[in-house]
Amino acid sequence: MARIVMKFGGTSVADLDRIRNVARHVKREVDAGHEVAVVVSAMSGKTNELVGWVQNMPKVAGANHSIYDAREYDAIVASGEQVTSGLLAIALQAMGINARSWQGWQIPIRTDNAHGAARILEIEGEDIIRRMQEGQVAVVAGFQGLGPDNRFSTLGRGGSDTSAVAIAAAVKADRCDIYTDVDGVYTTDPRIEPKARRLKKIAFEEMLEMASLGAKVLQVRSVELAMVFKVRTFVRSSFEDPDAPGMGDLLNPPGTLICDEEEIVEQEVVTGIAYAKDEAQISLRRLADRPGVSAAIFGPLAESHINVDMIVQNISEDGSKTDMTFTVPSGDVEKALRVLGENKDKIGYDVVQNESGLVKVSVIGIGMRSHAGVAATAFQALAEKGINIKAITTSEIKISILIDGPYAELAVRTLHSCYGLDKS
Ligand code: ADP
Ligand code: ASP
Ligand code: MG
Repeated sequence: MARIVMKFGGTSVADLDRIRNVARHVKREVDAGHEVAVVVSAMSGKTNELVGWVQNMPKVAGANHSIYDAREYDAIVASGEQVTSGLLAIALQAMGINARSWQGWQIPIRTDNAHGAARILEIEGEDIIRRMQEGQVAVVAGFQGLGPDNRFSTLGRGGSDTSAVAIAAAVKADRCDIYTDVDGVYTTDPRIEPKARRLKKIAFEEMLEMASLGAKVLQVRSVELAMVFKVRTFVRSSFEDPDAPGMGDLLNPPGTLICDEEEIVEQEVVTGIAYAKDEAQISLRRLADRPGVSAAIFGPLAESHINVDMIVQNISEDGSKTDMTFTVPSGDVEKALRVLGENKDKIGYDVVQNESGLVKVSVIGIGMRSHAGVAATAFQALAEKGINIKAITTSEIKISILIDGPYAELAVRTLHSCYGLDKS
């Protein structure tokens, strides 16, 4: 007997039929004698609808930093998961399974005060553990928690993955299964490249890079928690027949295992390709080339919570003036330009230019640590397709390349094939 956390994403609970299908997956594990906690997302599209409603509300008079009250945003967007947790509990009961729903505040899942992007601080798992031991399935609303102000908090988009891994850690589950609409983690988004291959295993570090560089199959924070708390996490499909052979395999269920790199026997040089849309580039022209300029630019941007990513500084031709280019999410351009404008005198630049609609494609692989020439291969392959590179950043296990938006899919496919990742 094992203790298993099963998480089902939006498409897996998109309608009542799909919720009944999820109940069959849960029943399989219950019938096998396991203790089960389930974490659900909102029905697919629901969270977007709720966010849209909030964004269409009139702006609060006098508010200059935020268009709405983030605590009310959380109260509204957390509701999607409340509905699916109740519906799944009912579907399970209808199959003769003892089940009840749990909202974040009922467990409670305690978070910090960062409404809209809260972090889980603590989960009091005793109650659900006791109920699970008594044979009751706990159906937990994902994405939501309880803030220190005693109000709803939410964990950022895609946050149900994080709820699931955190609950698995709190109840010391043997496994955390993330059920979604693909049957595992692929070498790249299978929607963009049908030749992508499913990975049997992927190392935590690689999955962290893939997720933070755009592969939304897992929320970044969930991978961090799985790594820190050593949660055995699988990504697998809810769209397969719940009772097909092997679906209930305890040690090797179908799907992709996220694990320590030591567990991966045949490590490839490149494991995957990720992409992130909606990047924007901002350039400051003719800056003074002196100590303190970068601090004067990026300090105020950081204080305004603008996430700066790639940074490129040109070498100054005459030793007095230079250019600085960096990227931010497209949604932050206006705010960034305002902050730069407010600090123009302190920074001392001539003109500021910006360009939105760019895409960052990234090549990821732990094997890069010990192999030379990985970046050169990418540059050559992109050049052959006539794709212009606007900026580059690298780390030990990844190369990120900024390109024009319309080339995104071509670039992903080109990189995927130039490292031999296409399935034969
Ligand atoms: P859920 O609603 O179940 O949380 P998401 O839409 O958040 O599902 O994540 C699943 C999607 O992630 C897939 O449909 C797929 O298009 C996308 N995806 C992006 N990169 C990858 C990848 N490398 N492997 C698998 N799926 C990926
Ligand atoms: N429903 C939330 C979202 O769409 C959380 C999740 O699905 O993980 O972002
Ligand atoms: Mg998701």
